[in-house]
Amino acid sequence: MFLALAPPVLAEGLPDLGDTAQLALTPQMERRVGESIMRDIRLHEPDYDEDPEATEYLNVLGNRLVSNSQDVRQDFEFFLVKDPTLNAFALPGGYIGVNTGTIVGAQNESELAAVLAHEIAHVTQRHISRMASNEGKLSTAALAAMVVAILARNSQAGSAAAAIGQAGAITAQIGFTREFEREADRIGFLTLEKSGLDVRAMPSFFLRMQKAGRLYENNAPAYLHTHPITTERIADAENRIQGLPYKQLPDSPDFQLVRAKLRAGQGTPRDTLALLETDLREKKYNNETAARYGVAVALLRAKEPARAQAELAPLLKGAAHPMLFGLAASIKRANGDERGALAVLKQALASYPSNRALNYACIDALQQLGQNREASALVDEQLRNYPRDAKLYGLQAKGYAALGKRLLQHQAQAEVYVLQGSLPAAIEQLQLAQKSGDGDFYQLSSVDARLRDLRQKLAQEAKEKKEGR
Ligand SMILES: [Zn+2]
Repeated sequence: MFLALAPPVLAEGLPDLGDTAQLALTPQMERRVGESIMRDIRLHEPDYDEDPEATEYLNVLGNRLVSNSQDVRQDFEFFLVKDPTLNAFALPGGYIGVNTGTIVGAQNESELAAVLAHEIAHVTQRHISRMASNEGKLSTAALAAMVVAILARNSQAGSAAAAIGQAGAITAQIGFTREFEREADRIGFLTLEKSGLDVRAMPSFFLRMQKAGRLYENNAPAYLHTHPITTERIADAENRIQGLPYKQLPDSPDFQLVRAKLRAGQGTPRDTLALLETDLREKKYNNETAARYGVAVALLRAKEPARAQAELAPLLKGAAHPMLFGLAASIKRANGDERGALAVLKQALASYPSNRALNYACIDALQQLGQNREASALVDEQLRNYPRDAKLYGLQAKGYAALGKRLLQHQAQAEVYVLQGSLPAAIEQLQLAQKSGDGDFYQLSSVDARLRDLRQKLAQEAKEKKEGR
């Protein structure tokens, strides 16, 4: 295993940042470890939440913070975990998982951003790797053993892996030190400030978390296990905001709608619907549109599309938002009106041509209606904007399969695997493409070229692993 071959570095104290020669894991290795864990999460974790609207929002907010962080070269990917408890965790290599409960529980957008900024700092400060290098906390061997266990499980077909639980366990096992927590707070604070968000969210969020911790005792939110909130951390955060001008920031409509949607998705459909309707009636909300939208989502979830439609209709006449159109289309689909859904999506795309969730939904609707050529054209157009979007390649493969174009189908599926960090599976798909027998000369040449390219990449990775880089 490559990690076991890495020379253990038993540094005295913490290595200086930037002195990566002393770290047990190179950024490339961190990325590969993170990729392998993500692959497991995508494949086996039922709580991995693909919701394109919420995921897109999380990535826009997250990357806004990243662009104001210490290390803008690192690639980040933010993903959603369907879990009502408050938690967020950083995997090696810039993958950051956020529980839906964190978004629902945040009282404003800056509070959510404060959590993200803290996690981003754990990544940019390379805390996992520094921890691995720091003897007595977690040895390289222990981290290697952990990763090996995860990778080994990958090969066990059909194992009901709780990958996210595993990922959480890693963070818990690593249990960042006080120094790392302090550093993540300090750096996270700077990131929050530089991003123009409300830095007061940090102490206010900490205080609420601490109270929640006392309330739950042993059932404290997971976040408290991995990032314990100490009186010292709260005092530090409060000291930082001393003397800073007061700033009232309105939450973005995206935050409000995403939060309303995720809240409507929690609990049992009936109970949640009753709860949201009561809040609306008693005007317990920050934003009426978001509150009504939430009720409409809950109605659809409770299998009452007609009432959902009635609740949503007035909102569509007001200040429009792509998520409102997305819901309108979902309601039509729930009514079996696939054509109506497509019409809504096309109309919405005229106003928001680059909205990813609307495009996914439109491609899906076209495919459902058997309009595969138009669907493929839309996928190609989207891939020009988002060439690293695995979901688009997946939709492309599906469309080609429906059209009976086998070479193109396997070629697209290969790109899904490449983007998910699974080179052997990608190579297998390209070999199937070669054998498909339905490609022309140019298509076959392109498959051959990509295959050479990926084999080279795989060999290079194997070499790096052997050298322990
Ligand atoms: Zn932390």
